[in-house]
Amino acid sequence: SGMLEGNVALITGAASGIGRATALTLARDGSAIVVADLNESGGSATVDAITAAGGWAIFVQADVTRDAERMVEAAVQTFGHLDILVNNAGIFYTADLLDVPFDEWVRAVDVMYFGTFRCSQAAARQMVRQGTGGRIVNISSVNGFLGMPQSSHYNSAKGAIDQLTRCLAVELAPHGILVNGIAPGFVETPMAIVNGVNEHETPEFQEFYVRRRRIPLARPALPEEIAEAVAFLVSPRCTYITGHTLVVDGGLSIT
Ligand code: NAD
Repeated sequence: SGMLEGNVALITGAASGIGRATALTLARDGSAIVVADLNESGGSATVDAITAAGGWAIFVQADVTRDAERMVEAAVQTFGHLDILVNNAGIFYTADLLDVPFDEWVRAVDVMYFGTFRCSQAAARQMVRQGTGGRIVNISSVNGFLGMPQSSHYNSAKGAIDQLTRCLAVELAPHGILVNGIAPGFVETPMAIVNGVNEHETPEFQEFYVRRRRIPLARPALPEEIAEAVAFLVSPRCTYITGHTLVVDGGLSIT
């Protein structure tokens, strides 16, 4: 549709799942894409899919815990500027509160919460230098505000991201940078596969979330359904929303 023509978007974790779908969707809307991920083969596949569809993209092999500045530099070197950041990189593993090693707890916070901070600060510095405004979207989760078991590390990192979204929104508003979040419910991506089992297909999941109608729409989301919400938040159609985290969960959190 060309709504994002002339924009450059940096998307972390875009080698897979929600990040890849977001990369393809923003490219469809006309944005050039910087695919940043640890995973080189997946990242290259995202770039190939975008270029095959007539879009512009590069892959940067990068870790959100170390390489935030380098991702932004790659965007500027290749495309001349940076207008959109989507903080999507994430990791999920289950761990009981009583057993979880401190280092594993820190790892979740480091990748998702500190990673979101590092990339946002690096991108915002560039956007402020440009003086042309910008958009940041942070992917959190309904786990950031619901009490889900066996994921205190993940849930805490996600809840902290929602507060960071509000803080970034306030400080970056004078620079014309709108900062929002998306809190997905359950999404059909490789992340749902834990120890080789698709969590969404287990009898426990079906019984608890689907049969008891814990998800009113009675199914997980497709990654593309999250990507469309990101596409709205970064589009010129969205001009007066900032500091908000939009829940995209098929009604899960209202039941
Ligand atoms: P995914 O596992 O398919 O993709 C995550 C990507 O992030 C992978 O390509 C991985 O290589 C990358 N990544 C991980 N650590 C990284 C790091 N340190 N630096 C750079 N890249 C890194 O997962 P997904 O389901 O697409 O998840 C995307 C985001 O959505 C995550 O933040 C996740 O927490 C969130 N989310 C997912 C669901 C779900 O049900 N799948 C629900 C709510 C929120």
